[in-house]
Amino acid sequence: MNSICLNDLINEVKKYNTNQKDIDLIIKAYNYASFYHDGQKRESGEEYITHPLNVAFILAETHADTDTLCAGLLHDTLEDTKATKEDIEHEFNKNIAELVDGVTNIKDLEFSSVEEVNNANMRKIIVGVTKDVRIILIKLADRLHNMRTLNYKKSNKQREKSIETLEIYAPFAYYLGAYRLYCELSDLSFMYLKPNEFEVLKQQRINIKEQYMPLVEEMSYKVSRILNDKEIPYDIRIRVKNVYGIYEKLSEGKRLVDIHDLLALKVIVDSVDNCYLTLGVVHSLYKPLNYKFRDYICTPKTNGYQSLHTTVYSGDRFIHTQIRTHDMDKIASFGFNAYWDVQGDTRSVMQKEISDKCQFYTSLKEIDSIFTNNNEFVKSVKSEVFSEKVYVYDTLGNVSELPKGSTIIDYAYRVRGPEAAKLVGALVNDKSVSLNYVLQSKDRIKLIIDNLSKGPSSDWSQIAHTSYAKSLILKNKPTNY
Ligand code: MN
Repeated sequence: MNSICLNDLINEVKKYNTNQKDIDLIIKAYNYASFYHDGQKRESGEEYITHPLNVAFILAETHADTDTLCAGLLHDTLEDTKATKEDIEHEFNKNIAELVDGVTNIKDLEFSSVEEVNNANMRKIIVGVTKDVRIILIKLADRLHNMRTLNYKKSNKQREKSIETLEIYAPFAYYLGAYRLYCELSDLSFMYLKPNEFEVLKQQRINIKEQYMPLVEEMSYKVSRILNDKEIPYDIRIRVKNVYGIYEKLSEGKRLVDIHDLLALKVIVDSVDNCYLTLGVVHSLYKPLNYKFRDYICTPKTNGYQSLHTTVYSGDRFIHTQIRTHDMDKIASFGFNAYWDVQGDTRSVMQKEISDKCQFYTSLKEIDSIFTNNNEFVKSVKSEVFSEKVYVYDTLGNVSELPKGSTIIDYAYRVRGPEAAKLVGALVNDKSVSLNYVLQSKDRIKLIIDNLSKGPSSDWSQIAHTSYAKSLILKNKPTNY
């Protein structure tokens, strides 16, 4: 593993932030952490400071703000050294002290300890997102560096960490829209959990790359030529699906040749208008598979992801194409850290963005409001948030994300809250359905609400699938029942 030094971190930061005051604060945080960790070693034999330095570097690659970078450097000082929260607040600022404290409160799960302790801890991770999403972003960078250096741990530890990463941290990265972190976290876990399958797929991935590369390069050349003529500035990249992503598709029963997005051409332009112009260019050169076209610019994914997706014929093969702006690309790669240069207080801007754009955040808050028992809380989060989803639409085209198995009643409580108690019927794709209808992705739903309705009938709590709907139904139970 090639090691990095403070200068590498500073150079990485300067790619997006050249403010000298910020740079000075980062250097101060590095010196502070070096001082307190002095003499401590990692299991690899390296000086301990290499760990927080790498964590800060990962955060800098995601364009994190200065408070987050400093907190990344300081993240292990409260737990492992004599530094105190008060001192960090005094030397730096309140924000940084709270971020470090937030990260410290999230302990790694101990598989040997009782479930209740682990679940209480997992709840801290989960509700941490609702307080300041940067806490979990630092924790993700911390976990990523630990996964990268997992070869120094014993094999049972490797297994435990990998399971935990795959079950909790990777989904978090995914739902926060940080795809790069998600891909690396899931690939590393997969490598430790199923080493043989990992090697086989890794090799297949290389073969695919070799087979498809000439086609994608040709396409890239043709598209660039026209964009140059039209004087549209662009950036073209080629991405290959990550190993775990391929494994998941194969486990769904797909054959390798049927995975249409193994290789993707990414075209990044400077404005939304130019995204659509570029789409026209691509379609003028290559025939699209019409049913694979998606406009996630008009209708973002429920984790805030925006892009145009089209899959086109290239001979007898398909090439997946993604077209988006630089801003959309930054958010798609890094998630919410990409908001570092926002106007105003970073924390409140980020919390607003996440609550506006990420539906998993709404689900977490709903579930958090219902359960006092940590075991039930974690069970619901696993089955309703980190689980398979259906995506359905209202009559205006707004998308809602619900756990698979949800019914009309769950949808009604999600979009209407307590008012759903007055639900009397629904149309799905213009056809009348009963309230126990199980939602399918792409359903278009119109709810029929009658204010004269007496409220939920006795069977509603059995029909409902989500704990949020169930809890509101119980509150609304008519007295004669
Ligand atoms: Mn750490």
